[in-house]
Amino acid sequence: MPTTATAYAAPSAKAPLARTTISRRDLTADDVAIDIAYAGICHSDIHTVRDEWGPATYPLVPGHEITGHVTAVGADVSGFAVGDRVGVGVMVDSCRTCAACRAGEENYCELGMIGTYNVVDKYGEVTQGGYATSIVTDQHWVYAIPDALDLAAAAPLLCAGITTYSPLKYWGAGPGTRVAVIGLGGLGHLGVKFAVALGAEVTVLSQSLSKQEDGLRMGAAHYYATSDEATFTSCERGFDLVVNTVSANLELDKYLGLVARGGTFIEVGLPVEALDFSADALINPRLSIGGSMIGGVAETQEMLEFAAEHGVATEIEVIGADQINEAYERVVASDVRYRFVIDVNSMRD
Ligand code: NAP
Ligand code: ZN
Ligand code: ZN
Repeated sequence: MPTTATAYAAPSAKAPLARTTISRRDLTADDVAIDIAYAGICHSDIHTVRDEWGPATYPLVPGHEITGHVTAVGADVSGFAVGDRVGVGVMVDSCRTCAACRAGEENYCELGMIGTYNVVDKYGEVTQGGYATSIVTDQHWVYAIPDALDLAAAAPLLCAGITTYSPLKYWGAGPGTRVAVIGLGGLGHLGVKFAVALGAEVTVLSQSLSKQEDGLRMGAAHYYATSDEATFTSCERGFDLVVNTVSANLELDKYLGLVARGGTFIEVGLPVEALDFSADALINPRLSIGGSMIGGVAETQEMLEFAAEHGVATEIEVIGADQINEAYERVVASDVRYRFVIDVNSMRD
C-alpha cells in the first residue's frame, strides 16, 4: 500500500498553495523512504508554480531542496540506514546509460533528467516535491548530509548550493581569479560564499546597497549597486567570471562590459524571457557566455563535503508551512535574507 504524506500544493497557477494529502509509492528494492524535516524555497519553485516556464501539472507540490531522516530502506539499498541524515535535490531519476549519465553529469542526461516535481517519472506518475512530510526515492538520488551541517541550512545547498558551486569549479574560480556575482539572493549569496571559499576575489553586484554589509560579511571584497549609474560606473572591470543569478531579465550589455579579455559570463538565472545582449558586447574583448544547470550526483555530494569543511552555510529564515505564500511574495520582491526554509514539522499537527 502506498503511504500518504501531508503536503502543500498549488491547485493552479494563480491560486495560493494549500494543505493537501498526497501518496508516496511503495518502497522498491532500491528506494529510500525519508521523513522530510526541511524544504527550501527556490525561485524555480515559484517560476514553476506560476506556470512561467510551462507547462505545469496541478495540483503541484514544489520543493527540491530537501533534508530529513531515513525511515525505511529497500532490500538492495547500501550506504543508507534508518535514522541517517539525508537530502534530496532537484533530480530523482535519469536514463543512467547515456554519455552524460555515465560521466556523472546526470543533470545533463540526454533524455532529460526527471525533476523532483512536475515531471512524469518511469512509473507514469507526476513527481511531487519536498513541501511534504515524506518522500520515497531511489538511493542514487539521496545525499548524505555531513554532521557539521545544520539540517535546515543544508537544504538549500541541494539546489542553490550546487548550482553555484558547479560553474565556479568548472570555470576555475580560485586564487588569482576575480569573480562577480549579480544578485544577492538564494543562489547569489551561496555563490559569493563558495567563490570566497575557493579563494577568488569576489564582487557583488546588487540592485541597491541595502545588503552591502551582509555581502562584505560573507567575504566579498567589493559591493556595487547596479541601479546607481555613478556607483556602478566606478566598478573596476576585468572579471574572469561574472555569474548572473538574477531571476528577471537584465540588459546584459552593461554586465558583459565587466568581463575580462577571454573571460566568461555565466548564466544560472532562468528568467522567462530570452537573454538580451548585442554581438558588439560579446566580440570585444573576446568573451564567452556560458550557462550551467545544477550539478551531477557525485559533484553534489562533493559540494556538501566542501561546505562542511569550509564552513559555507546558507543564511536562512525558517518559516511554518502557513507562511509559504507570503514567502513567495517576499522572494519575488527580492526581500529574502537569504533563503526561506519550511519547517516541515509545522505540517505534522
Ligand atoms: P532569488 O533568491 O529570488 O534571488 C534572485 C536575486 O536576483 C534577487 O535576490 C535580487 O538580488 C536579484 N533580482 C531579482 N529581480 C531583479 C530585477 N528585476 N533586476 C535586478 N535584479 C533582480 O532567486 P534564486 O532562488 O536565487 O534563483 C535565481 C534564478 O536562478 C531563478 O530564475 C531560478 O529559477 C534560477 N535557478 C537556476 C538554477 C540552475 O540550475 N541554473 C537552479 C536554481 C535556480 P539583489 O536584491 O541583490 O539585486
Ligand atoms: Zn532550485
Ligand atoms: Zn542519461
